[in-house]
Amino acid sequence: MSERKTRVRYAPSPTGPQHVGGVRTALFNYLFAKQNGGDFILRIEDTDQTRFVEGAEKYLLESMEWAGIQFDEGPHLGGSFGPYRQSERKEVYKKYADQLIEEGWAYYAFDSSEELEEKRKQAEAEKRNFKYDAYSREDMKNSLSLSDAEVEKLLDAGNYVIRFKMPAEQNIILNDQVRGEVIINSSELDDKIIFKSDGLPTYHLANVVDDYLMEITHVIRGEEWLPSAPLHVMLYKALGWEKETPLFAHLPLLLKPTGKGKLSKRDGDAMGFPVFPLEWQDPKSGEISSGYKESGYFPEAFLNILAFLGWNPGTEQELFSKEELIQEFSLKRIIKSGAKFDPEKARWFNQQYLWKKSNQELANILASFKPGTDKKYLEQVVAVMKERVQFVHEMAEEGSYFFEAPVAFDQKAVKKKWKENSKEIVDNLKSVFESLDSFESSTIESTFKAYVEENELGFGVAMIGLRLCLTGKSGGPSLFEIMEILGKKESLDRLSIGVEKIEALKATV
Ligand code: GLU
Repeated sequence: MSERKTRVRYAPSPTGPQHVGGVRTALFNYLFAKQNGGDFILRIEDTDQTRFVEGAEKYLLESMEWAGIQFDEGPHLGGSFGPYRQSERKEVYKKYADQLIEEGWAYYAFDSSEELEEKRKQAEAEKRNFKYDAYSREDMKNSLSLSDAEVEKLLDAGNYVIRFKMPAEQNIILNDQVRGEVIINSSELDDKIIFKSDGLPTYHLANVVDDYLMEITHVIRGEEWLPSAPLHVMLYKALGWEKETPLFAHLPLLLKPTGKGKLSKRDGDAMGFPVFPLEWQDPKSGEISSGYKESGYFPEAFLNILAFLGWNPGTEQELFSKEELIQEFSLKRIIKSGAKFDPEKARWFNQQYLWKKSNQELANILASFKPGTDKKYLEQVVAVMKERVQFVHEMAEEGSYFFEAPVAFDQKAVKKKWKENSKEIVDNLKSVFESLDSFESSTIESTFKAYVEENELGFGVAMIGLRLCLTGKSGGPSLFEIMEILGKKESLDRLSIGVEKIEALKATV
């Protein structure tokens, strides 16, 4: 195995948008491939035509591009192991299904869904589980139980599936890179359908055949596929590819923020955080689900968030660039228990990346929310707002007063903190500020302090009065810096207008 080039794949089914769990699987595969100088392949597993969703593949490619996860081969790139869409590989699979039948590892089954349902009901009535397996297959309608002539006739009629003949009482050993050795008794498994009457393989056969043909060395995927892994191991054996069986690594489930239950596609918008990389509009219902990108997350923060869903470096370090992740990532440090999704931590990660960016870079992003605003002005806003937010758009929202004079005033603050003498204080301060030649924050501040001390006023009352007039709010960055950014004229205008509006409001609250 060691001389084989590392080749891993991400193998989504285009049944809808990939949520964070899927992107995490892709990321871990990518990191592993890059760390080992290997290839990362995208394979679209679209054999189940009934669940196909228009636009899912395009969405996936756009998400990966945004997140900075690059493939080496795939339907959009080509490569020497293509085609990379299973629907374009239809003719590949049949011969392997036939081979399995010839060698006694599979058989034709003709049971109708009504007949299967009947068996299920019967088992239920007898308080047992129905399983199509080594113990029941002889009583079913298949090429093992029927005469050759009957089988011939039914095959001609064309309505059949091919089932894998799972042997009884065998220990299947799965050496999972995350979970260690997992031993499963084959008697617990059933005879899965590997080929359908529509001429297409099911997931299990197509997945194993393609992994083999594409020379996949490691299968890194979500825990929900763990129950399928013993069958896959058996398929490798049955097809004579035992030596090429890839190593498996099953990634822990993503759990809801409460820790109770699997994170579902519906949780995000219900709990106020995105579950999808990009916004997604359901083509049928038109329903829109929010995305990380549109919610203002930086792609590098998104990757960092995903990396910590089930993996950790074993040190205190939390911020990792993609390059550092490639260096540090290891399958050995993937946890076995479910990874709880923590929306607050996700926002914290974004904030860390925001703080790493230059004011200029942030101003460029802020410009998209406030088109037409002078870049230097935006940089000044960024300089005072940056420490206080987790997302760039919050600078535009929380700092709305940098872009327009307040129309609303914090009612609670007006009621509690706008005093009898507030109007007088603001009016007087306005006259004092009027006489200033320099409108730098330090000058404004010393002037303010001198006035307050001289008149033996409380700092708090004077300050909140000014702040309410200038911003409408009771908190925010340094008042003097706000004034400097707004400039003398705008600040003084706001003081006169604000006083009147607040006085009027005060009378009503
Ligand atoms: N098509 C499967 C999925 O949608 C792939 C599972 C695997 O990686 O084997 O997740």
